[in-house]
Amino acid sequence: YAKDLGKNQYCSYDDELNKKLMRKMEIEKGLCAAYLYQQIELHYQPKWNALTNRPVGFEALLRWTHQGLGAISPLEFIPMAEKTGLIVPLTKWVLERACEDCVDWNRKADTNYSVSVNISYKVIESRNLYAMVNQALDKYGLAPHLLELEVNELAMMQDGRGTVEQLKQLQQLGVKITMDNFGAGYTFFGSLDHVPFHTLKIDRKYIGNLQSPSKQAIVNSLVTLSQQLNLQIIAGGVENERQLQFLQQAGCHIMQGYYFQHPISRKELYVWLDQIA
Ligand code: C2E
Ligand code: MG
Ligand code: MG
Repeated sequence: YAKDLGKNQYCSYDDELNKKLMRKMEIEKGLCAAYLYQQIELHYQPKWNALTNRPVGFEALLRWTHQGLGAISPLEFIPMAEKTGLIVPLTKWVLERACEDCVDWNRKADTNYSVSVNISYKVIESRNLYAMVNQALDKYGLAPHLLELEVNELAMMQDGRGTVEQLKQLQQLGVKITMDNFGAGYTFFGSLDHVPFHTLKIDRKYIGNLQSPSKQAIVNSLVTLSQQLNLQIIAGGVENERQLQFLQQAGCHIMQGYYFQHPISRKELYVWLDQIA
């Protein structure tokens, strides 16, 4: 593990560093076991259509409660899973679970909810994505157009070729591709004209701060951009009525955020769906 700290850092027995390392090792050790022993689960957060006042679909988000350390954020364990390669079987599991659940939501009501799964660039790199998606759809009989894959800018910045080809194959299969966290990092406008995106998801950093005129201008122009490119647009991180109003005015009607619902377990989701029915 010392080598992971980088060449210029010395592994001093500083308490703070030691604690961080111990935690990291504990998590890495636990992650594999959690996967094997099914201590991880999926939560779902609705995507809300503010025009119809109905959910349109749900994003699957991994949750893991470590026996000793308690809840661990995916922001902490996903990078580890990426490093060890566990992200590939983990994503296969997420895809299958998400497809299974989505079929079930739509069986229980006259609806066509979609399900979104986050895809790490590592999974695309591994070249297993198409096979995993195809298999998951087949296994549970989910219509491809109800599955959405959320990829972020990082995926676009890796080897251009392989990534785009795989995403094209998936699009031909009927699956929808979303560019997640649009604007969060080095926004890769360049990928917009050759990657078959269906949807842009505006990063919540623009939504959290909508009083700022420059943030408003950015959101407005992202909506225009999506319209001109014929892409769907969705805003993440909507936490209050004011943000909802602004987005509606800007022409963005699909939203996600704590204002509508936090990510909840599949059990809670059934209760919630009954409540809003
Ligand atoms: P993401 O895909 O950008 O997901 C949105 C994150 O924002 C989620 O955090 C969600 O709980 C949070 N969020 C939703 N609404 C609001 C809001 O109104 N305000 C605020 N402040 N936050 C909100 P979460 O669940 O902790 O997930 C963090 C990240 O971990 C995700 O970001 C995604 O990149 C990654 N992740 C989660 N599950 C998976 C997975 O199955 N596979 C992969 N590759 N990554 C995953
Ligand atoms: Mg149905
Ligand atoms: Mg996402």
